[in-house]
Amino acid sequence: MIVVLKPGTTQKEIKKMVKYFNDLGFNVGVTNGINCTILGLVGDTSSLDIGKIERQENVEKVMRVQEPYKKANRKFHPEPTVVRVGKTAVGGGNFCVIAGPCSVESKSQIMDIAKKVAEAGAGMLRGGAFKPRTSPYSFQGLEMEGIELMLKAKAATGLPIVSEIMSPKMCDVFEEKVDVVQIGARNMQNFDLLKEVGKMTKPVLLKRGPSASYEELVMSAEYILAGGNENVILCERGIRTFETYTRNTLDISAIPSIKRMSHLPVVVDPSHACGASWMVEPLAMAAVAAGADGLLIEVHNDPKKALCDGQQSLTPEQFKDLMGKINTMLSLTSESMKKMCL
Ligand code: PEP
Ligand code: MN
Repeated sequence: MIVVLKPGTTQKEIKKMVKYFNDLGFNVGVTNGINCTILGLVGDTSSLDIGKIERQENVEKVMRVQEPYKKANRKFHPEPTVVRVGKTAVGGGNFCVIAGPCSVESKSQIMDIAKKVAEAGAGMLRGGAFKPRTSPYSFQGLEMEGIELMLKAKAATGLPIVSEIMSPKMCDVFEEKVDVVQIGARNMQNFDLLKEVGKMTKPVLLKRGPSASYEELVMSAEYILAGGNENVILCERGIRTFETYTRNTLDISAIPSIKRMSHLPVVVDPSHACGASWMVEPLAMAAVAAGADGLLIEVHNDPKKALCDGQQSLTPEQFKDLMGKINTMLSLTSESMKKMCL
């Protein structure tokens, strides 16, 4: 961290500042310029309160030279993290498609969808049991019954299950029953939830908040990693912009950017990004081309009657067709792109 002192700061005041930082545990390099003095702080400054330093009488400005995220930082962990869930893996060249309905609605619904997405090549089954809905009058999910039905679908297909957690109170139940714990966009900065999920052993799928920056997303992942849970998958699911034609705006730049910032795998959810089933395919293809480690796709056996997000859900047939195209796109991106670059 670099601390620029105000012009005219006396040698006595500079010494006082150096002592202040030494007492906080930092080594300080002093550079005396013509007009001002710069202090270079050496040590882990991630817990320092920049505002507090800026309020010191002689301080002009403070600049971080390193990112505030450490465990999630690609610089200190150049190898990509591979998150393993049963026989499936995400990251480090392992591409995984997570598919299923927005919400579990009934036994026949989840069984039918699970079998069909498994046949089409999905690596995991998604299904919401505790739903974060904008309106308190909308369907809130089947709650524990939904989790039990997901377990039945897992037993029938062998697919690991992914479901959203909304409350820290549910961590024990999710630890026992769910394979991947989803933290939804609305809860990305629910720090109490992040801390509790950090103590779990199950992998976490952390979705980007609709107005969160890349750094904010990675900092939320840092909470989970700091708690001891290193299996975090990040998910770009569209952000809120001035455009109203689509439900959200898929931020393709998030894929290469976040993968450069962090070693954690990045998957893309085109369904919530666009909010329209007809647009899921081109966005999914774009995500694959941009280097995503996987996709999260909503599939429903009767989208018109879905209790949640039917308008953006693919039918099992559409999903099967898309899986064929994703495979073609994957074969193009890895090997042939490498050849073209040679
Ligand atoms: C979901 O995956 O069904 C969901 C609610 O997504 P998000 O948190 O991205 O809105
Ligand atoms: Mn949904």
